[in-house]
Amino acid sequence: MDFIDLKSQYAALRDNINARIQKVLDHGQYILGPEVKEMESALTAYTGAKHCISVASGTEALLICLMALDLKPGDEVITSPFTFAATAEMIVLAGGVPVFVDIEPDTANIDANLIEAAITPRTKAIMPVSLYGQVADMDTINVIAQRHGLAVIEDAAQSFGATYRGNKSCNTSTFGCTSFFPSKPLGCYGDGGAVFTNDDALAQACREIRTHGQSQRYLHTRLGVGGRMDTLQCAVVLGKLDRFEWEIRRRLELGDAYRAKLQAAIPSLQLLAVRPDRDCVWAQYTVFVDNREAVQARLKDAGVPTAVHYPRPLHHQPAYAHYATADACPNAVSAAARVMSLPMSADLTEAQQDQVVAALAQALA
Ligand SMILES: *Cc1c(COP(=O)(O)O)cnc(C)c1O
Repeated sequence: MDFIDLKSQYAALRDNINARIQKVLDHGQYILGPEVKEMESALTAYTGAKHCISVASGTEALLICLMALDLKPGDEVITSPFTFAATAEMIVLAGGVPVFVDIEPDTANIDANLIEAAITPRTKAIMPVSLYGQVADMDTINVIAQRHGLAVIEDAAQSFGATYRGNKSCNTSTFGCTSFFPSKPLGCYGDGGAVFTNDDALAQACREIRTHGQSQRYLHTRLGVGGRMDTLQCAVVLGKLDRFEWEIRRRLELGDAYRAKLQAAIPSLQLLAVRPDRDCVWAQYTVFVDNREAVQARLKDAGVPTAVHYPRPLHHQPAYAHYATADACPNAVSAAARVMSLPMSADLTEAQQDQVVAALAQALA
């Protein structure tokens, strides 16, 4: 069993994806070819956001938004320490200072109730992460941001396709940033990502920053990056879109099935909480266990791959330890010690899921 089954997905979409790729090879417009705009239009229609700017990766999406906000050295960005490193990494690279606010112990998303106490005169933005595919508490965060004149950037690398109070992830705040890394809910076959916004001026800034700050060809109005997503990768995303609604439905069903099966087989197992006003597209199906290494080893012996997202909170990483004391954000510290992700993808079969549940019950017995 694969941790994430991309082979079955390709088998189902092979003709579609191959034809899309062949079309690009035939027209030869590898950079900013017609598929780039076509994908951006399809994703604005999907998310409801006014603008989609495709970029080289999810990491680049975060950097480009922060550059569009024109951070000054020392400007603070409030974020979660329980995320992939790129979130804080891009804050630092953009000249900012990450300010870590602890997570809710049951959802592992930033605790919106702790944000206001972390705001200072230097705060410029709030960057919540919609971890595991569940959108963070965006309405509460947006109200706080509005009160203090801050921008909000949703790190939606894991949550593309998720719904929050009737809105799609990526269309819940000033910016939404997603990733098309192959294992994400909507993946390409390399690196890719996108920025979403409803703000015309910020969208224009992101477009310029994506291509070396050019407002016209060879007129470099601002500092930018080489941050485009290539046409072939956009073609792959387009090739996957026909089936994407089905995949999201399937992910939601499999998430519900995991919950029911795990609760029945292992009543004491702590599962991730999903708030009633939103869903979770399960970029990772993550549970909480003690003695994680031993449990993982037993699962591996039973043929069930697992992973840990993430084993250390960022303020316990050498590169970011100076931004907080080690005893800060205790919920993130505790989650990092206990989280374990189980195999998940839209093509996971019921039989495979039963095998995972049985193996986990055995491993914990
Ligand atoms: C994957 C991921 C990123 C980075 O996306 P890339 O496309 O790999 O650069 C950023 N933040 C989170 C939370 C992620 O899961």
